[in-house]
Amino acid sequence: MKVFKFGGASVNSIERIQQVANILRLYEGEKMLIVISAMGKTTNALEKVAEAFFAGKKEESLQLFEQVKQQHLTTAKYLLVQHYLACEQELVNFFTEVEWLLHDEPVRDYDYYYDQIVCIGELLSTTIVSAYLNESGVANKWIDVRDIFRTDETFRDANIDWDFTRKQVNEQVKPLFSSTNRVITQGFIGATDENESTTLGREGSDYTAAVFANMLDAESQTIWKDVEGVMSADPKKFPEATLMPELNYSEVIEMAYYGAQVIHPKTIKPLQNKGIPLLVKCFLEPSLPGTTIHNNPIKGLPPIIVVKEQQALLELSSRDFSFVGEKAVGQLYHLFENLNIKPNLTQNGAISFLCALDDKADKIEQLALSASGFLDVNVEKGLSLLTIRHYTPDLLQKMTAGRTLVLQQQTPDTVQVLLR
Ligand code: ASP
Ligand code: MG
Repeated sequence: MKVFKFGGASVNSIERIQQVANILRLYEGEKMLIVISAMGKTTNALEKVAEAFFAGKKEESLQLFEQVKQQHLTTAKYLLVQHYLACEQELVNFFTEVEWLLHDEPVRDYDYYYDQIVCIGELLSTTIVSAYLNESGVANKWIDVRDIFRTDETFRDANIDWDFTRKQVNEQVKPLFSSTNRVITQGFIGATDENESTTLGREGSDYTAAVFANMLDAESQTIWKDVEGVMSADPKKFPEATLMPELNYSEVIEMAYYGAQVIHPKTIKPLQNKGIPLLVKCFLEPSLPGTTIHNNPIKGLPPIIVVKEQQALLELSSRDFSFVGEKAVGQLYHLFENLNIKPNLTQNGAISFLCALDDKADKIEQLALSASGFLDVNVEKGLSLLTIRHYTPDLLQKMTAGRTLVLQQQTPDTVQVLLR
């Protein structure tokens, strides 16, 4: 059994959806569970629908939703002949679910509505792709993952109920493979025990696929991407970026921690626990080897470069020249937790505490306001955070030339600099 995941970019045009079929044909005869994301930028578009609805702009939300509907209907029309009408009916059922809600007034919190609206993206894309594959001879069964993935009620960042979900996988998913080789389902979404839809956090489809891989004891999980594999840096910014044919789980966790957008960080644990290798392969050139991620140590990795732009530096200092000690720092971490802020870099000095954060204006404002109760707060924006794993002094110098270093931290493995 294999688990495949196709991201939004793999299903954002007719040609690409056809390429999904081509790839699956290469694995004829193999059993696989296939997780597919919402098409292209659908999730962002649906976020806009949710925002308008929650702001009380009903007409605007309906109009924005209409665009999402039309895009999907058009795609279905292009791809399907015999299956079009049946597929259209299924799409319309999903549209209706959302439209009902959009005609109401918001009475619950935003995150709840967000999930009820945004989850539709993956339902629409998988419905269309599954129908297209069936029509092109790539037989498959479609399932609604909300019947399988049970979560708590942390809308927008729901936690999976592993026991219940495993039971569903055993009872509902495994038996399907006695009559089909391919099961197609959604990533990123689940449902509570009250049947309310939930989402697992943006880019959560990799994680869904990993949970399936774990529960199905898959031989591997493959993430199909529009890159050759995992690169040592963003090739759009650094032409010297190289492909890394092999990585291990810890390196990937480190990379994700520092902000590399390779793989959703939650993806690793379910795979690592069962020693299931993760393959990152090139969607457009499936014959390329891509990157294999496993548990074994790896020597000789190239320097790995991660840049996070739009960083804000908060300088929090004591008013009376007393030390910023465990009490104040404890209070600060409490604020981070309450505001769901993850500092990217922190440094504690005698009378100040520095931290670099993603510049999310509302969060920074709230943090600054609360911290100003016990510390002086100074904010500087527009900085970038450069992280190099396996750095060399030369490379560090080259990459920081001409910039002002605001903060620097290093271990033998990793250097991080905040640059102005
Ligand atoms: N469609 C969701 C997103 O764009 C989940 C995913 O693609 O992984 O965040
Ligand atoms: Mg995606």
